[in-house]
Amino acid sequence: MTAPFLIATRSPGKRKEIVQILRDIPYRLVFPEDVGLVERAEEAGLETADSFEGNARRKAEYFARLSGVPTAADDSGLEVFSLGGQPGVRSHRFAIVSGPPDQQDAANNAELLRRLAGAPAPRRRARYRCVIAYFSRPDAIPMTFEGTCLGSIAQAPRGGGGFGYDPLFVSDDLGKTFGEATPEEKHAVSHRGRAFRALAQWLQTHLTG
Ligand code: IMP
Repeated sequence: MTAPFLIATRSPGKRKEIVQILRDIPYRLVFPEDVGLVERAEEAGLETADSFEGNARRKAEYFARLSGVPTAADDSGLEVFSLGGQPGVRSHRFAIVSGPPDQQDAANNAELLRRLAGAPAPRRRARYRCVIAYFSRPDAIPMTFEGTCLGSIAQAPRGGGGFGYDPLFVSDDLGKTFGEATPEEKHAVSHRGRAFRALAQWLQTHLTG
């Protein structure tokens, strides 16, 4: 049996993507629920840093301490240049709603379109960013990995694939929204695909057994 490797996320959208992206790593991927880590109220306080890296480090360290196994966490989001990098670290709660993921995504997308109403193409430029923090042990110095991808915000949602802002994000690499892309197309160029492949490559070359 291969050794466990914890991915510290409770997001179903991210979980699905990370399992696909990391399918070849020499570890057995597990998620908090798989190792009996039920959600605690204190988790809400983990994502209060003002940077993706800060949030990723806090989440990964917290779950590494609870689980005792190698742990990685990512924090990610959308940065629209003309909005000063918003929604950024607040991507998940841009529209200040709480509810099922689908409703929250729809509200966030509506808020983004509202903020960009009438904005010409140059003001719709954006990037997705993903930062991963990885703790080989709870007291280790964390490694960080980053992935970005460039694109523009569409005038209206297109496609039902992906999650979050994907129906609005027209990828420069693909020439269509991530919502219109297949999962394989998205992972090949996405911020998360790039960041997790960097982590996977690092694990392959630094495995000490
Ligand atoms: P996190 O769970 O704090 O990292 O928040 C990530 C949020 O950023 C998600 O809830 C989405 O709103 C947005 N986001 C991050 N990555 C993606 C992506 O690949 N597609 C669409 N939205 C994303």
